[in-house]
Amino acid sequence: MTHTSGEWVIRKAKSGNDYAIVAGGYLIVAEVFEQIGEDTVIDPKANARLISAAPEMLEALKAVEYPFSEGMHDKQRCYLCHMLKGTGHKRGCKVGDAIAKAEAQP
Ligand SMILES: [Zn+2]
Repeated sequence: MTHTSGEWVIRKAKSGNDYAIVAGGYLIVAEVFEQIGEDTVIDPKANARLISAAPEMLEALKAVEYPFSEGMHDKQRCYLCHMLKGTGHKRGCKVGDAIAKAEAQP
């Protein structure tokens, strides 16, 4: 399972200060509400911008995950924790944790 493909764009609701993240022009990926119950989000559009950038951020993170090559065997290591590609990340590696959070299976 993977996330919805295509560019994620922000659409403002017809009324209020709520937003939708839409892919492919019509698929609603997420809704960002200004208020649920008593809790008011300070800037729902800022959250909508962050969510809409998620696919590009995941792609960029994966692009820089293994930048290092080492020796004649061309071993690739994680940018932050320096673990070899294919061996996982060290506990607390922000690169590995963020990618795992985005791609974890239910
Ligand atoms: Zn790592």
